Amino acid sequence: MITASPSGRLSQAEDWREHWRRAITDPGELLAHLGLTELAARIPADGAGFRLRVPRGFAARMRPGDARDPLLLQVLPQLAELEAVPGFVTDPVGDLAAREAPGLLHKYQGRALLIASGSCAVHCRYCFRRHFPYGEETAAAGQWRQALAHVAADASIRELILSGGDPLALATPKLEELTRGLADIAHVKRLRIHTRLPVVLPERIDQALLAWLASLPLEKVLVLHANHANEFDAAVDRACARLREAGVLLLNQSVLLRGINDDADALAALSERLIAAGVLPYYLHQLDPVQGAAHFAVDDARARGLVESLRARLPGYLVPRLVREVAGDPAKRPL
Ligand SMILES: *Cc1c(COP(=O)(O)O)cnc(C)c1O
Ligand code: SF4
Repeated sequence: MITASPSGRLSQAEDWREHWRRAITDPGELLAHLGLTELAARIPADGAGFRLRVPRGFAARMRPGDARDPLLLQVLPQLAELEAVPGFVTDPVGDLAAREAPGLLHKYQGRALLIASGSCAVHCRYCFRRHFPYGEETAAAGQWRQALAHVAADASIRELILSGGDPLALATPKLEELTRGLADIAHVKRLRIHTRLPVVLPERIDQALLAWLASLPLEKVLVLHANHANEFDAAVDRACARLREAGVLLLNQSVLLRGINDDADALAALSERLIAAGVLPYYLHQLDPVQGAAHFAVDDARARGLVESLRARLPGYLVPRLVREVAGDPAKRPL
């Protein structure tokens, strides 16, 4: 669809922004759309400090009338988030300590992670960054020169990871500017993008983005984030197919979430759905102990049991690695 951009120019590239802007932010509207208005009384005021936000296309994949829908539970604020639970804190993975330049985290050998944007199209209730001071720490707004200078000065860095927030929240010209800055850094061979947008807002995978990706003289890896097979539909499949045509290797990371995907059938169905879209499972994360998310936690013994049963029923390449992030560790810790 061709729409007028704010500057008055006709622009196809900005069409996804309209979908972004039109996301549902009012819990009452989401519940009415699903025929679940009786749940409204159970929603904390002010979204417990992290407002509801869900793109309409993602909400359309929720099952009407199902209060336990696995997509709904990922985005709907719950009273349980207000409970203080010992061990569940605001910076569970030590990100603030690992900061090396504004917006740059260099925790693991060979890889530096740039917090390219603080915005997300969807607000996931279990997100470990829900308390992160995005405003101060994102590398957007021209600040990434400093981050890139750090990358240029450290020849051990072979991979730059764009993360966030969601890095694809940035306009494509901004991403082009960033990778122009990378062009002079010969030791960086790979660009990795951690994004939920191909799943929650597949409109973002537009011609301009694909042309940018296809033009990059780097190995390109894109790590999606889907937790349940129901997150996929034909639009997501198309976005994945186009990314692969642009030469991008597709992986997926999930978070193990109580009541959402903590059973072997759901996890096996997710792996099967991923490969049908041309995506390989990468990580299954144990929840980061972030304040407000304790009700999603699954204990380690059950988590291991679930992955064991996946191993018994799926080809090895469809079994994700079960990991936890431990502050100070040199890599994600296998369980
Ligand atoms: C998770 C993470 C990475 C990537 O780790 P991989 O095991 O390579 O996927 C890199 N940097 C930071 C800061 C991370 O949190
Ligand atoms: S898209 Fe990712 S960074 Fe954004 S809220 Fe969800 S889990 Fe957090």
